[in-house]
Amino acid sequence: MKKILAIDAGGTKLTCAVINENGEIISDVEKYSTPKNIDDLIKLFKEIINKYEDNIDMTAFATAGAVNIDNTKVDSSTPNMPKGYNQLDFTSLSKKRVFVENDANCAAWAEYKIGAAKGEKNTITITLGTGVGGGFIVDGKLLRGKSGRAGEVGSIKINSKGRVCTCGRKDCFESYASGTGLKMTAEEVAQSDEVFTKSIFNSKNPKDITTYDIIEGVNKNDEYSKKVFNIWKEDLIKGLVSITNIFDTESIIISGGMGKFINTDEIETIVNNETVVSPVKIKLAKAGNYSGMIGAALLACQK
Ligand SMILES: [Zn+2]
Repeated sequence: MKKILAIDAGGTKLTCAVINENGEIISDVEKYSTPKNIDDLIKLFKEIINKYEDNIDMTAFATAGAVNIDNTKVDSSTPNMPKGYNQLDFTSLSKKRVFVENDANCAAWAEYKIGAAKGEKNTITITLGTGVGGGFIVDGKLLRGKSGRAGEVGSIKINSKGRVCTCGRKDCFESYASGTGLKMTAEEVAQSDEVFTKSIFNSKNPKDITTYDIIEGVNKNDEYSKKVFNIWKEDLIKGLVSITNIFDTESIIISGGMGKFINTDEIETIVNNETVVSPVKIKLAKAGNYSGMIGAALLACQK
């Protein structure tokens, strides 16, 4: 059975482990802080690969950023990765085969192969964290598009409010449906709606209200927090309705830190009332914290 060294390279954390063809982790999981400079990052990649290289068949990276169609390079890096990351040819890191894929795509593949969407050939995994990421499985294949960048669901437009996204564009789905989006909605409502004057957070500067405040407020039945959370949920639903209508999937799997705050049954009912395709199931992710590494390893095996 093939053994794959899988490395998940995120903006703050880097994890690695050896994974077999069944998606099982067969070594300890090592964790590092992601170096802030490209030379240190390359050095760390090489150290990790050197340590395992003799006992593995290939290395698979799950990474932040958009990956090229050949799965060898990051075409467009994210601001949280070191400068020069998009110059790195990953195949130069090892004598053996190296495969690279976007981390959201890897997570979607893991959900499809071993997680909440196991056996469902049409499924989408959406990550709701500080941003919104997505991976699309269409007819049992990972949707990559002409350049490898397909599935950038965080960048679809859902509103026309003119809210500026962290990417610099306006009204991206992720500027509403992410944790950052919830915080921005909290600030907007605090500044424009008198419901804030009666809120348990009314002594706070609207800029300082956090996503955790809003969740706490919802649990304490605070009207302002409930209003903010409902707007956030409606924005999330707008995006889910659009992608369901286009892709007609069996399921949408929700992963990421914001997932635990939503009631998937409630959202599923609302989405299915708004779509014209057959009903979609909305479920929480099940492939776990290491789904990026597992998905990368399984994709590398099959390519
Ligand atoms: Zn954006």
